Amino acid sequence: MIAKVIVDVPSRQTDRPFDYLVPFEMESWIEIGSRVGVPFGGRVLQGFVVGLAAEADIDPKRLKPVSELLDPMPPLLPDLVELAKWLSDKYCCSWTTALQAMIPAALKGKAERYVELAEEAEEGELPSELAEWLASQGGTAKLEALLERFPQHAKGVKSGLRTGAIIEHASIKDRLSIKKMLTVFLTAEEETIRAAAEELPARAAKQREVLLYMLRHGGPLQMQALIAATEGSASTVRALEGKGLLELREVEQQRDPYAGREFVRTKPLPLTAGQQAVFERIVRSVRAGEPDTMLLHGVTGSGKTEVYLQSIQYCLGLGKQAIVLVPEISLTPQMVERFKGRFGEAVAVMHSRLSNGERYDEWRKIRSRQVQVAIGARSAIFAPFESIGLIIIDEEHESSYKQEESPKYHARDVAVRRARQHGAAVVLGSATPSIETFAAANRPQPSGTAGGREPALLPMPERVGGRPLPPVDVIDMREELRDGNRSMFSRKLHELLTDRLEKGEQSVLLLNRRGYSTFVMCRSCGYTAQCPHCDISLTYHQKTRVMRCHYCGHAEQAPTKCPSCESEHIRYFGTGTQRVEEELAKLFPGIRVIRMDVDTTTEKNAHEKLLKQFGDRKADVLLGTQMVAKGLDFPYVTLVGVIAADTSLNLPDFRAAERTFQLLTQVAGRAGRHHLPGEVVIQTYSPEHYAVTTAQHHDYAAFIAEELRHRGAMGYPPYCRLILITMSHEQLTLLSSVGEQFASRLRELAEEQGILVPLNSGLSKAFDVLGPVASPISRMKDRYRFQCVIKYRGSIDASALIREALAPFTDGPPLRQVQFSVDVDPQVIL
Ligand code: ADP
Ligand code: ZN
Ligand code: ZN
Repeated sequence: MIAKVIVDVPSRQTDRPFDYLVPFEMESWIEIGSRVGVPFGGRVLQGFVVGLAAEADIDPKRLKPVSELLDPMPPLLPDLVELAKWLSDKYCCSWTTALQAMIPAALKGKAERYVELAEEAEEGELPSELAEWLASQGGTAKLEALLERFPQHAKGVKSGLRTGAIIEHASIKDRLSIKKMLTVFLTAEEETIRAAAEELPARAAKQREVLLYMLRHGGPLQMQALIAATEGSASTVRALEGKGLLELREVEQQRDPYAGREFVRTKPLPLTAGQQAVFERIVRSVRAGEPDTMLLHGVTGSGKTEVYLQSIQYCLGLGKQAIVLVPEISLTPQMVERFKGRFGEAVAVMHSRLSNGERYDEWRKIRSRQVQVAIGARSAIFAPFESIGLIIIDEEHESSYKQEESPKYHARDVAVRRARQHGAAVVLGSATPSIETFAAANRPQPSGTAGGREPALLPMPERVGGRPLPPVDVIDMREELRDGNRSMFSRKLHELLTDRLEKGEQSVLLLNRRGYSTFVMCRSCGYTAQCPHCDISLTYHQKTRVMRCHYCGHAEQAPTKCPSCESEHIRYFGTGTQRVEEELAKLFPGIRVIRMDVDTTTEKNAHEKLLKQFGDRKADVLLGTQMVAKGLDFPYVTLVGVIAADTSLNLPDFRAAERTFQLLTQVAGRAGRHHLPGEVVIQTYSPEHYAVTTAQHHDYAAFIAEELRHRGAMGYPPYCRLILITMSHEQLTLLSSVGEQFASRLRELAEEQGILVPLNSGLSKAFDVLGPVASPISRMKDRYRFQCVIKYRGSIDASALIREALAPFTDGPPLRQVQFSVDVDPQVIL
C-alpha cells in the first residue's frame, strides 16, 4: 500500500503529494486524513495522507516507509482533505497551509530525536558511562537529553551513530498532549472501607479522614482535589494505596471551559407567524438533503436566534449535525448560554479566547461524535462532522469571516462549498446583509438545487412583540461649530446624556475609528478630499503632508485652506476613545464610564468582565469602538450615541458606505430592546450621505438601491469580483520592475484566453488588471510594497490564471526574493 502524503513544508516546490510505503502493521490504520511522520530531506516531518494507492508513481526502490502514525483516529475526514485542495486552488495557498488551518493548533507536531542503544553494540564501542546511562533509561533517550547530560561525549555519540552502536529515531511530538490527571479510586465496597477506616491506629487520623471523605463523596476524585479538600498530603494518599484501600490511576481529562456552569434548559418558544414561515422553509431544505443557500434577512430583535435553534433541533432529529458560525466579538456568554441552554451537552464551543488545550478538547468532542452542534468563530466551519445537515452563519456581513492571513478564506464561501459536499442547507442571517449576499439571493438559483425551486431570500421585517425600532436623530456637526459649539458632543447628545444620568438609565457611545487611517476634512463645510479618478477619499500621510489614493496611485499636496469654502478649519481627522473619555469626565463630573477598545480588552476575559459590569449597572456609559455595536442586549440602555459617523464613511475603501450603514444600524439596534423605549443620536459632518439617511430611517432597501448604483458605476462587487496581489521587496527599483513583469504576464495570459476585456465593456466576461501601484502601507518591515488589483466578471477561473502567471516568479529558487501574496475576494483593499 502506498500513501500519498502532503508534507508540512509550505513552499511551492514541495506543494504536492509524495509517495511513501505503508508498513504492513499500519495498513489497517492509515486512511485518507491520517496524520503521519515521514522521512523528508534527512528529517522527519509531519504530513497528511491525501490519497492511497496500490502502486507508487516513482521507482519502488526509492520509496521510503511512513515512519509513524500520529493518531489512532485520523484527525481529518476525506471531505476535509478534498476541501483543503479546493481552498489551496481558490485562495492560491499551499495545500499544507490549507490542511493546517483545519486542525487545532495543538496538533501541529514537531519532530523530536531519540537515540537507542543497539543490541549488537560491543563493549568499549561507546564511552561506558554513556552506555550505562542509556541502559538505565531502558535503552532509549532523547538525543537532546543525552547531549545535555554528557556534553563531553558529543564525539562519542557521533561515532556511535556512525558505527551503529546507537541508532537514531525521530518522532513527531504534539505541542500538547491529552491532559491526564492522577485520580483516586476506592478499591472495595463501602462497608469494607468503613471497617478498615475504623481499624486504623489513632496516629493515622488523617488517613481515616481521607477514607471517610472518599466515602462521603461516593466516586473517584482527582488527587489534587482530594488533598485540597482534606488538607492532607500526597503521602497520606500513597500510604492508603500501599494498604490496598485506594488505587491511583492516570485518567484522561477533557478540559471543559464551561465546566461547573449551570445552563438553564430552555424549551422551544411558540414561533411568531414570521418566524414560522422562515422555519418551515429552512426545514424543507434540511429534509431535502440537497445543497441550498438561504439569506435570512431579519431586523434587529426579529428573533433570528430562535429560528436557528429550532432548525438545528430539526436537523439533529434527522441524525445529522449542525455548525453555527458567529463573529468572534459576539461569541459572548449571552450567546453561548442560548445554545447550551437548548442543547446542553450536545454543543462544542470554539473561540479564540480558549487555550490551545481547551480548543483541542472541544474539537475532540466533535471528532469523537460526543456532540452534534459546533458553535464558533470562522474556523469552526472545519468542524470534523461526518454528516452535516445545516450550517448557520449569523451576522453574515461581518468582515471577521474573512481570514487575513493565509489561507485567506471567507468562511461564507467555504460553508457553501462544504454544504455541497454534504447536501446541507446554509442559512446566512443578518439585519444588514452584505451587498454580495443580497445580490446573490436575488439572482435566480442554478436549477437542480433545492433552492432553485424556492426563494433564497427569507425576510423577517418585524421585531418580536411588535416593539418599534428606536427613532434616530441625525445631528449636523457643521451647524454645531457654526453656533459656536466646539465640543465633540452636540447640544442634543449632551442634553440626552444629562437626562439619562438623572434617570439612572444607561447609554452606549460609539466612536467608530479604525487603526491608522486618517483623512482630511474641513470642519466648517464638511469637505473631504476625494480622488479625481476613484470614488474614495484620499488618505493623509502626515509625514510628507501628501494625500494619496490607494487604488490608482493619485497623489496631491494636502491643502492648508479648504478648497471648497476657503476656511482654515481644515485638518486631518482622528479622535480616540481616550479623548472622548476625558471629555466625558470634564463635562459630566462623577460620570461612570466603561471604555471598551483594543487597549482595554487585551487580557483574557476582559471583554466579558467589562460587559458584566455594564450589565450589572456599575456604569452609566459604555464607550467603545465597533465592539459595543454588536449583539449586546441590555434592558436599561435607552440611549445610543454615535460620536462621528464620518470616521468610517471616509475610509478610502469601496465598502466604506456599506460598513457605515451596517454599523449605524447595528448600534441603533442596541437601544430600547425591552420595556423602556430607546433613542439614537448620530453626529456627522455628512448628514445628507445616503448611508446616514437610510440608517436613520432603518431603510435597508433604500440603502442597497443607492449603493448598487454606485458599485455599478465604479465597477465594484457585486458587479465584479476582486483579487488583490501584493508584492514586496527591499529594493524599490527591482520590486517595481518585477511588478511590471508580473502584471504584463498576467495580461498576456488573459489576452491568450480572449478575456482581457475592460469591465465597462458590457460583455459577460471581463478581466482587468489595475496597477501595479504602491500599496497603501508602502513600506513594511523594511520592505517596499506594490499591489495589483484584478477585477473580473463571468465564469473565469481567475485563481488558476493567477497561479499560472505567478509560476515563473515563485517556482524554482525563489526568484530574487520578491514575495507575492494573493488575496482572493479581499474585504479591504486599503
Ligand atoms: P435577533 O437575533 O433577530 O436580533 P433575538 O433572537 O435576539 O433577535 O430575539 C429578540 C428577543 O425576542 C429575544 O429576547 C428572544 O428571546 C425573543 N423571542 C424570539 N422569538 C420569540 C418568540 N417566538 N416568542 C417570544 N419571544 C421571542
Ligand atoms: Zn470647507
Ligand atoms: Zn484614485
